[in-house]
Amino acid sequence: MPYAEVKNYIDGAFLSNGEARIDVLSPLDGSKLSTVPLSNKDTLDKAVESAKKAFISWNALTLKERVQYLYRYRELLIKHADELTELVHSENGKTLGESRAEVDKSVELTEFACSLPQIVANEIQDVSKGVECRSERKPVGIVASITPFNFPNMVPHWTIPNAIALGNCMIFKPSEIVPLSAMRIVELLKEAGLPDGVVNVVNGGKEIVEAICDHPDIDAVSFVGSTKVAKIVYRRATSSLKRCVALGGAKNHLIVLPDANPEMTASDVVASMSGCAGQRCMAAAAMVGVGSIDHIVDLMTKEAKKIIPGENLGSVISKEAKERIERYITEAEEAGAKVLVDGRNVKVAGQENGYYVGPTVIDHVTPDMAIAKEEVFGPVICIIRASNIDEAIQIENRSNYGNAASVFTQSGGLAKRVMENASAGMIGVNIGVPVPREPFSFGGWNESKFGVGDITGKSSIEFWTQVKKTTTKWNAEDRTNWMS
Ligand code: NAD
Repeated sequence: MPYAEVKNYIDGAFLSNGEARIDVLSPLDGSKLSTVPLSNKDTLDKAVESAKKAFISWNALTLKERVQYLYRYRELLIKHADELTELVHSENGKTLGESRAEVDKSVELTEFACSLPQIVANEIQDVSKGVECRSERKPVGIVASITPFNFPNMVPHWTIPNAIALGNCMIFKPSEIVPLSAMRIVELLKEAGLPDGVVNVVNGGKEIVEAICDHPDIDAVSFVGSTKVAKIVYRRATSSLKRCVALGGAKNHLIVLPDANPEMTASDVVASMSGCAGQRCMAAAAMVGVGSIDHIVDLMTKEAKKIIPGENLGSVISKEAKERIERYITEAEEAGAKVLVDGRNVKVAGQENGYYVGPTVIDHVTPDMAIAKEEVFGPVICIIRASNIDEAIQIENRSNYGNAASVFTQSGGLAKRVMENASAGMIGVNIGVPVPREPFSFGGWNESKFGVGDITGKSSIEFWTQVKKTTTKWNAEDRTNWMS
């Protein structure tokens, strides 16, 4: 493993401050990969000081000048894609193919940031004779990005490229469960020539997150993680008068109508629930089957049985996660649901201590069961039966979450009913994972997101900037007043 000891990255230097450390474990076999510091407020103060110093010259560059660093960084991401892929695989446990897809997505996110000069042109108009109004986007200042374990490479690229391209300096707090990719990301940013202090990394958990929320010199906080922590971070950051966008958990419903293409639907639903071992905030969690869909369920069980842990299915993140997921399955079974494909108690030869859960399909789940309401975050799909489309939409609407919802049908009119009435921020029609790609923005509704705007794409421009409006009278001899 390249990083026997994870360090903080402050002012262009990797530092160990003698703070308490915890182990970073491989979810693939339970072995120790590294250790990570649990940083405190003193470390954060140093990172913020470095960011404030860097901000003066970084903000003085033009947008076009700033994105030159990101063009170079993009090349380095591509050059080192294999190695970045290995890092994601080893610390997160997803398959090599899924890890590579994550790195490829980071390239796309960086490309969007490179395109910002084409999108963020300022506005100017003669509002009356000799009087001009201009509106310019300026950075917010010192900003923070707090990220979860499930996409160690991609989620940091949701925030870092756009935030710094738009002139901000960043404090990045990766998940302490997967801190290795963050080390390599900042090494490559440094190699791309990014000035010291523009991006700093502080590692740790609850204590450092609270310090970020409270810090008087941090102006904006973005958070991605569970709803429980998103609420804590949103309340705490906004109560100290920062702008905040906090993305939370999910319980995505896929409504399957009897006229859906059976093969495509079965394959898409199973791929959506099992990709990244179900640890995606866009994963299918509940399938609401309307009317006669037994033929699709039969195909789904066949599809699920093709998924082999350790081959085309990665591990879940931890022993606790495996136990939690298996507990949900057992409780559903005890409450009367029917487990058609059972992923409990799987073992992968050679990785007996890895945290694997096999693909699981559970039929006849009722909306009141915990597995139907709560985020399981594993390769599990529960099938809830509904007698008509309105009942299916009501089931989807009752979820506290609202990240994604999809409908599978060949009827345009019925698809439109779901598009209009599902209570979620990202909707799919015959798509299992309806992620909006750049330049569209990523973000859910309800308890899947707190704050205004989305975290990526065009909507993120609003979050990472503030608008300066300047009114100028150029010709004093015109004797204009503000009304003229
Ligand atoms: P998490 O909420 O446990 O952790 C996220 C971050 O918060 C980490 O950096 C962690 O160090 C910090 N943290 C944890 N507990 C804290 C506390 N009590 N106080 C302050 N900070 C704390 O999430 P996770 O388990 O790393 O990630 C999985 C979750 O993230 C799932 O719920 C998933 O749906 C969600 N997620 C959502 C999206 C989205 O776009 N909506 C994307 C990815 C992941």
